[in-house]
Amino acid sequence: EITAMPSLHTPPTSTIAQVDRRYHLHSQTNMRRHQRQGPLVIERGDGVHVIDEHGQAYIEGMSGLWCASLGFSNRRLAGAAQRQLETLPYYHTFNHRVPAVTARLAERICELAKMPEAKVFFACSGSEANDSMIKMAWAYHRARGNPQKRKVIAHQRGFHGSTVMGASLSGLPNMHAAFGLPLDGVIHVDCPHHYRNGQAGESEAEFCARLVNQLEKRIEAEGPQNIAAFISEPIMGAGGVIVPPAGYFAAVQALLARHDILMLADEIICGFGRTGQWFGHQTMGFTPDLMACAKSLSAGYQPISCVLVSAPVYAVLEEQSSELDGFGHGFTYSGHPVAAAVALEALDIYREMNVPLHTAAMGRELHQCLSPLLDHPLIGEIRGIGLVAGLELVEDKASRASFPARLAIGAQVELAARRHGLIVRNMGDAIALAPPYIIDAEQIREMVARLRAALDEVYHANGQRP
Ligand code: PMP
Repeated sequence: EITAMPSLHTPPTSTIAQVDRRYHLHSQTNMRRHQRQGPLVIERGDGVHVIDEHGQAYIEGMSGLWCASLGFSNRRLAGAAQRQLETLPYYHTFNHRVPAVTARLAERICELAKMPEAKVFFACSGSEANDSMIKMAWAYHRARGNPQKRKVIAHQRGFHGSTVMGASLSGLPNMHAAFGLPLDGVIHVDCPHHYRNGQAGESEAEFCARLVNQLEKRIEAEGPQNIAAFISEPIMGAGGVIVPPAGYFAAVQALLARHDILMLADEIICGFGRTGQWFGHQTMGFTPDLMACAKSLSAGYQPISCVLVSAPVYAVLEEQSSELDGFGHGFTYSGHPVAAAVALEALDIYREMNVPLHTAAMGRELHQCLSPLLDHPLIGEIRGIGLVAGLELVEDKASRASFPARLAIGAQVELAARRHGLIVRNMGDAIALAPPYIIDAEQIREMVARLRAALDEVYHANGQRP
C-alpha cells in the first residue's frame, strides 16, 4: 500500500521570505543575521527603480551589483533575448564552433576597445574572466620559456571575484579567512588610497611615488623572474570606490614593462562606460595587456564576461596552443548566444545613448549633487568619477577616525537609505553609488536627497557627537 508522500510543493501559505530562509544559501550574506532579518524580496523592476513584494519602490542606486546600467525594464534587451532564444538558444565555442551572434559581439567589443587586432575570449562571470586572465598570463610566460613566472601581484582592497583564484586575488580579508586563502604566489600590495594610506603631510604625488617605489622593492624581493602579472581594477569598486592618484598606473606600467610582467585590467565594474570613458584604463591612463569585462557588457540582463587579449599576447598564445594541439581552457557557456545577443543589443544602445559622453555628463551631475554632503558631520571623503561614487563615513572629520566597528555605521546607513526608498551598498563604512546610466538629473537629485535623509537619521540616532 502506498503511504502518503510529503507534498513536493511548498504549501501556498509560506511566504517567499520563509521559503528563502528555509532553502536558500545566499551569496555574500551573514547567515545567522539572514535567519533573523530575512530577505528583501524584489519582485519587479521599472527604469531605475526596483519594487519589493510589498509594492515599495526603491531607486536602485547601485544598478544591482554595478551592472544593470540600462535599468530594470529595457524592452529591447528583452526582445533581443527572446529572438535569440527562438533562433538558436544554445551553441558553444569549443572545437571551432561559434554561434553567429557571438562572433559579431567579439568584433563589436574590439571596435569599442579600440583594439582592432585583439581577440575576445568569453566566459559567464567576472571571476571566470579573471581566472582566465591568470591562466593566459601563465601560458604566455611558459610559451616564452619562462614557466617559473607565476606569481601575481594585486592590491589590498581590490576585488576580483569568488572563485579560488578570484578570491585569492581579492585583497579583502573576509574573502580569505574561512577558506585558507589566498593561494601561494598571490602577493598583495598597499591600496593606492591617499585619504586612508597617505602619511601625514604627504601630497598625492609623493604618496604615488612612495607606492610605486614600494612596488619596485617588492618585485625585486620576490624576483621579477617569478612574477607573471599585476592585476588591478582601474577604480577599486568593492574595496570602497578607491580612485588611485593621477599618474599611478602609468608609473606602475613602466615598472612592469621593465620586468616583463603583464598588466591585467579588471574592468568588470569600469568597462563599457561607468567612469565616463568606454573603459576605466582610459580614464586612469594605462594600456592593459589583458582586460576582463562583465556586468555592463550585458547591462546585467544575462551572465556574460570576456577577456580582451591584446595582439602581442595573443600571438604567443596562438603559437603555444598550436603546438599543444589546442587551447585547454573554456566553458560550456562561453559565448552563449542568448547572452551574446543581449550584450550586442546593450552595446548598440550605449552607442545610441552616446555613452561615454552621456555617463561623463551625468557623472558630473552626480558628483556636483553629492559635493555638499562633504559638509555633513558623518562624511569624511567623497570619491569617484563618472557614474560611480563612494562616501566614507568617519567619526571625526579632522583626524579621519573611523567609527568603532561594533556600531556598523555603514550598515546603519544602508538600512536607513532603504527606509527612504533608496538602495545603496555599504562596504564597511564606505557607501557606494553606481546608478543606472539611464538615471536623469532629477532622479539624481532625489537619490542624493534620500541619502542625505538617511545620513541625518543615522547621525541623530547615534547623536552624541558635536
Ligand atoms: N571583479 C570586479 C571588479 C567585480 O566588481 C566583481 C563583481 N562584483 C568581480 C570581479 C567578480 O565578478 P562575478 O561576481 O561575476 O564573478
